[in-house]
Amino acid sequence: MLADLVKKYFSDSDEEFFKSIKGLFAEKKLEEYLKYKYPLNHNIKNDDQLYKFIQSLKKRHLKRSDPLKTIKYDNKIILEKQALGLHTTHYRNHGNKLTKHTEILIAIEFKKMPFEFLKCISVHELAHIKEKSHNKFFYKLCLNMMPFYNEVELDLRLYLIFLELGGKDLWE
Ligand SMILES: [Zn+2]
Repeated sequence: MLADLVKKYFSDSDEEFFKSIKGLFAEKKLEEYLKYKYPLNHNIKNDDQLYKFIQSLKKRHLKRSDPLKTIKYDNKIILEKQALGLHTTHYRNHGNKLTKHTEILIAIEFKKMPFEFLKCISVHELAHIKEKSHNKFFYKLCLNMMPFYNEVELDLRLYLIFLELGGKDLWE
């Protein structure tokens, strides 16, 4: 079960990586690790606050990109799918280049996560305004908006595996 989920969320992982993950999941080490590293939930609880947060990131880092019409929490986005978007090509928002990326929808579960995870997914979606694939340029954009992006993205995927294994929300 854990092995399948690791393959799903880390498609390019090797045996060595799996072993280290397995260690973290044993004896509730992952929960401790995540809670220690990210002790607090964030305060961006409604669509208005989310809109302001993402627009300010966009204004600071992606000034000359297409404007966004809609930014909101969406309960129809399946968390897993949004998260899978972290490493495969994409669902509806990430269509072909002719379609302008004018909305950012964030899975509602991100309301109950630490600020870093919300920022990570926001930065990810913002970077897609400029680049639809997960290539080097894409990750450069992400890192520019969030210096430890890669590290947080990895932790976020670990948390999603934890949830899929039936773990309870850590930041309720
Ligand atoms: Zn993506």
